[in-house]
Amino acid sequence: MDADHGIAGVKYECLLFDMDDTLYPMSMGLNLQCRHNIEDYMLEHLHIEESEVPKMCLDLYKEYGTTMAGLKLLGYEFDNDEFHAYVHGRLPYEKLKPDPVLRNLLLSMPQRKIIFTNADQAHAVQVLNRLGLEDCFEGIICFETLNPPKEPKDDDDMVIESAEFNNDNNLRDSHIICKPSLEAFEAAIRIANVDPNKTIFFDDSTRNIETGKAAGLQTVIVGRSDLVPGADHVLSSIHNIKEAIPEIWEVEVDNIKGRIQSQGLEAMVLA
Ligand SMILES: [Mg+2]
Repeated sequence: MDADHGIAGVKYECLLFDMDDTLYPMSMGLNLQCRHNIEDYMLEHLHIEESEVPKMCLDLYKEYGTTMAGLKLLGYEFDNDEFHAYVHGRLPYEKLKPDPVLRNLLLSMPQRKIIFTNADQAHAVQVLNRLGLEDCFEGIICFETLNPPKEPKDDDDMVIESAEFNNDNNLRDSHIICKPSLEAFEAAIRIANVDPNKTIFFDDSTRNIETGKAAGLQTVIVGRSDLVPGADHVLSSIHNIKEAIPEIWEVEVDNIKGRIQSQGLEAMVLA
């Protein structure tokens, strides 16, 4: 991305959003179905003992950030795209409906807005399209951004490609970079080219919030009512953002509008 995104007089310059269970509630059921699909994949494709699958799935998720990252580190070999297509291909996406309230909130925020998700590109694009938010973000930092495929995809300009991370062929086959590792946050901050002190990070995961804070970001835990370690704010729903963090809108919008618009155009080209 481009270098100087500084906006004079604005407390926050960038908003970094997790996607799943942050931009829509966990009660939609996609998370649970995704876990079931991962378990099916472990059983059917990796031939892991059925009785071990549920615990192993959860343990790897807790230990390595994603079950997929843990499976790779344990030495299981499988194609990343095939895995993602399997676990996301059967998700009940039809449950996700356009969210005009969130859309209007996002469009009214003067800051840069970027998605930072562990999910793959196809899932991220599908979810954002279903929610009607596909044009609310300047880019998506996703699985492929931090773990570039050998043959880069070029079918979506929204996805931020990065040539500087995890490009060692031997390393990247087994070492997946994902939240909540500090490595993933530092990479995202570098790729997005943001000042973490002027960036607000939204996520529903307590461990992601903890690392986000350690990386220097302002943090918001979403989808609960109580503050957690490392969180600066708490939102029961992303819809409550204006009540909880009015500072986001406390800028001289008229003065900076032109600059922000031109930044958005630049970023779309670079993403
Ligand atoms: Mg999430």
